[in-house]
Amino acid sequence: MSETAHSDIIIVGAGAAGLTAALGLAQAGWPVILIGHADTRATARTVALFDGSLKLLQNLGVLDRLRTDFAALETMRIVDDTGSLFRTPPVDFRASEIALDVFGENIENRNLVAHLSEGVRAQSHIQWIEAKVVDAQANETIAQVTLEDGRILRAKLLVSAEGRSSLLRKIAGIATRNWAYPQVALTALLLHDRPHREISTEFHTRQGPFTLVPLPGNAAGPHRSSLVWMMDPAEARRRERLDNDKLALEMTHQSHHMLGKLRLEGPRGSFAMSGLIAQTFGQNRIALVGDAAHGFPPIGAQGLNLGMRDIAHLVDALTLGEDPGSSMTLARYDNARRTDVHSRVAGVDMLNRSLLSGLLPVDFMRGVGLLALSSIRPLKRLVMREGVMPRGPVPRLMQAQNNL
Ligand SMILES: Cc1cc2nc3c(=O)[nH]c(=O)nc-3n(C[C@H](O)[C@H](O)[C@H](O)COP(=O)(O)OP(=O)(O)OC[C@H]3O[C@@H](n4cnc5c(N)ncnc54)[C@H](O)[C@@H]3O)c2cc1C
Repeated sequence: MSETAHSDIIIVGAGAAGLTAALGLAQAGWPVILIGHADTRATARTVALFDGSLKLLQNLGVLDRLRTDFAALETMRIVDDTGSLFRTPPVDFRASEIALDVFGENIENRNLVAHLSEGVRAQSHIQWIEAKVVDAQANETIAQVTLEDGRILRAKLLVSAEGRSSLLRKIAGIATRNWAYPQVALTALLLHDRPHREISTEFHTRQGPFTLVPLPGNAAGPHRSSLVWMMDPAEARRRERLDNDKLALEMTHQSHHMLGKLRLEGPRGSFAMSGLIAQTFGQNRIALVGDAAHGFPPIGAQGLNLGMRDIAHLVDALTLGEDPGSSMTLARYDNARRTDVHSRVAGVDMLNRSLLSGLLPVDFMRGVGLLALSSIRPLKRLVMREGVMPRGPVPRLMQAQNNL
């Protein structure tokens, strides 16, 4: 027999976005139920979290838990490796140029999820149900989910943090625009001979970026980085069949031996590249956060940082005492997210397609753009600030602690 439970807010999905949303909404005083299993299995994936996301985690009291697994990003280097006629010299973006010590910190996904899970468990006022939602109903008056065991839970607001294939999004009747790129990203954690010196390097190749991002040393070795290598699907299939030594050799070659010899540590990952954007970020008592709302290729470390801003803005859009799932509240949230999400999705799409194009005028424009960035300082600073945090009102949870 099914039993019914009630809460003001139910969050579905216990990935990085769902766990952070639970912490943020609970801290704001909302009774919260979180539903989902935290996946902390070893994967070959990391996330670089920028300044705004770090402030959010600090304000939620979980940043210190993460520090041992962080590697700082002080410089972001772009190397044009397309072989284009209009190739520009490498461009370095330094955090100090915009008065920051670091742009952000890189961390393995599984460690981020594990630390956030501990943070959620330490909060007695978050009820965490480790289960899967198999059905839901959502319209202007009802919001309820059904778990695998038949239990039914009702709330005034459902938050979908279910990632790209969100069930709640479909139930709420929120349409999406979806598209695919002729690319696959191979990912790996790597050991290498030379230190990364807190520099993340993005080699722009004709098939997409090859990006090395610093990781902290561990028992396996003092010098480590994560790799996201975007390439043609046929090349990805060929490389997936290579043994570790042969694959590492190709990676070393593509990195121009910048960090010495590269070696693989642990499993590899493979992701078909695609994009997704929801038509609205809130409707029918459902709010979308993280990859449930938007998805795009991993260029410029934007995905989860955008998701973290969703959460901070959602917290600001809700006022205690008011109905959190009302159409007015959801419209406020949708409005706060529109420009940021659409501009990120368009920016990443344009850069990615400009690499794949191979047309001379496109190469020329990309070359001019990079040259302008390296030589016009105010423009460079503007782009760097925009990459870390968009212009416009900064949500409360992303402000320095003394502003809270
Ligand atoms: C190779 C790669 C590199 C990246 N690098 C960066 C980076 O450097 N910086 C950055 O900001 N972003 C990066 N991203 C993007 C970032 O990883 C994602 O934006 C982020 O992981 C999305 O988190 P999420 O919690 O929204 O979704 P997910 O991680 O997909 O989590 C969704 C969770 O919901 C659960 N779930 C789904 N449906 C249900 C259901 N019905 N019931 C219960 N649970 C459910 C799933 O099991 C899962 O646990 C990268 C992405 C890739 C692929």
